[in-house]
Amino acid sequence: MPLTAEARPKGSDVEYRIVDITRYETPRITLADQELRCPECKYPMHVYQSMIRITHFKHNPGSTRDCALSQGEGNEHMCAKQAIAEKLATLRGYEGTRILKEFWLADVERRADICVIYPDGNTEVHEIQLAKTTIDSLEERTNDYRRAGVGDIIWWFGGQADNQNNRVWAKDKLGGYGELSITEGRELVL
Ligand SMILES: [Zn+2]
Repeated sequence: MPLTAEARPKGSDVEYRIVDITRYETPRITLADQELRCPECKYPMHVYQSMIRITHFKHNPGSTRDCALSQGEGNEHMCAKQAIAEKLATLRGYEGTRILKEFWLADVERRADICVIYPDGNTEVHEIQLAKTTIDSLEERTNDYRRAGVGDIIWWFGGQADNQNNRVWAKDKLGGYGELSITEGRELVL
């Protein structure tokens, strides 16, 4: 469930551009005249809005494709992505950067949760891990990002992934990590 999609005006044949749904106050209205598709599998998408979930793009009904962007990421993951991106934008040192979500690194065929591009071209990746995982898998992703020339990789652990093993690994390998505190809370009070 992505926060980004490829968009172009309906009925046109101009190149698609990447849009980030969190940048729109009223995405359903603003993007109504846009043809939206998944950056990964290219299947048509639409804006999904609900009171209890972060607004995101969703594959249109009928998509039977096994798309990496349609699975694996729950509401918490999307919220964390947005919270981190917003926070980074306020931090010293991030002036003039471009903070891009779900950024595709073609060289290593990986999609980073957040990629920061500095004015001098240096890059920094932020990865969020909430589900249980293995050190091998963290290691593999990290090495791929390095291979792609990413200058700094920061892992954010929460949920089941926020454990001693992962923390020790990140400290040894990368010098540190980020911690996410996820609070349950979906009750609506009107
Ligand atoms: Zn897709």
